[in-house]
Amino acid sequence: MAVIAVDRPPNTTGAAAAPSRLTRSRLRELALLPPRPGLISLAGGLPAPELVPRTAYAEALREVLAGDASALQYGQPHEPLRVAIVELMRQRGVDCHPRQILLTSGAQQALSLAAQLLMVPGGQVLIEDHVYAGLRQALLPYRPSLLTVRTDLDAGMDVDAAEALLARGARPAFLYAIADTHNPCGVRLGRERRARLVALARRFGVPILEDDSYGLLHYDPDPLPALRALDAEWVLYAGTFSKIIAPALRLGWLVLPPRLASAAGVLKEAADLECSGLTQRAVARLLGREFAVHLDRLRAGYRRRRDALLAALGEHFPESARWTRPPGGFFVWVELPPGLDGDRVCEEALAEAHVAVLPGSAFAASAGAPANRLRLSFASCAPDEIRTAVERLGRLLGRRLHHG
Ligand code: PMP
Repeated sequence: MAVIAVDRPPNTTGAAAAPSRLTRSRLRELALLPPRPGLISLAGGLPAPELVPRTAYAEALREVLAGDASALQYGQPHEPLRVAIVELMRQRGVDCHPRQILLTSGAQQALSLAAQLLMVPGGQVLIEDHVYAGLRQALLPYRPSLLTVRTDLDAGMDVDAAEALLARGARPAFLYAIADTHNPCGVRLGRERRARLVALARRFGVPILEDDSYGLLHYDPDPLPALRALDAEWVLYAGTFSKIIAPALRLGWLVLPPRLASAAGVLKEAADLECSGLTQRAVARLLGREFAVHLDRLRAGYRRRRDALLAALGEHFPESARWTRPPGGFFVWVELPPGLDGDRVCEEALAEAHVAVLPGSAFAASAGAPANRLRLSFASCAPDEIRTAVERLGRLLGRRLHHG
């Protein structure tokens, strides 16, 4: 656990210097490598193309365009979509009202707007020491101090460490949590830790920003309710259609405590007025049509890919490597044998094995993070490709271990 200031160039203060730092990150470059013959990418969190419901979406779009002239106009948030999201939230154990739902341009804008609602320049945020890189980008304009706690690979965020920070007087503007199927670590927060985390938020008056981007993609039979199911006042919830329909929709949502809902609406309007009315209507149609069947298909498809990756890791990776067994989402987090450097392994994997993966350093909140971590995505490739990629990586790691 450490208190560290990041992304604060010397002698600059305030938000004015921030935009030049909002460049495309190294992570995005690697994650979005253009396809080339022989290259297998386990780097990005891109949904599997064959699991994106293109035909059904095309049909929904066609019907909306044919029947609803308002779809191409400026307009208010499409109420049937907010009602459908309330229904979807029930699957996460959450009871909420359409008025509490703010439609956003993906979960990324949900995080940005939540930061705008909660942050002050130079404020503190409590995060895990490996964190979704987009959260850090959303925070950049505020030049925050990041309070970091460890992630246990079997039970998620170290809630004891969070409690210790708060008990010593830290009052971050919010605490960022991915309780389910963590990106990048592929872990979920245990039931007891969830209750304790939410109790901490109430006790110390520190809101939780819950990023549940993968919450509906669970592959084991016992999904846990979202943190928002435990508290409606102190948890702001971010969701998205990127993983369960398609990223290009750029459609997500916040579930807000009533006291913040109208301020959030003003910020959204200032940012981009409104999400595309056409997209909102087409998605509302899709949600009304056997969406449960679609979700089951997604879960089965991604479960097969996850299981292929886990089996291949067991077969081809060195015995001294460890990895998480994600109950959902897209990612497996690997601890390489001590002494291997994740950045170097990634470069060599790309150049020699023609496999793209991301180094743990891409997600590290501080410079002192262990260097021997990798994030592997099982979302975008078919099981056969995943096996081939892991076999190639395993051979590379074997060479490095034996020859340095
Ligand atoms: N949060 C997490 C944890 C993510 O992995 C992503 C996408 N990679 C996002 C938020 C942003 O997703 P989007 O804006 O596409 O909804």
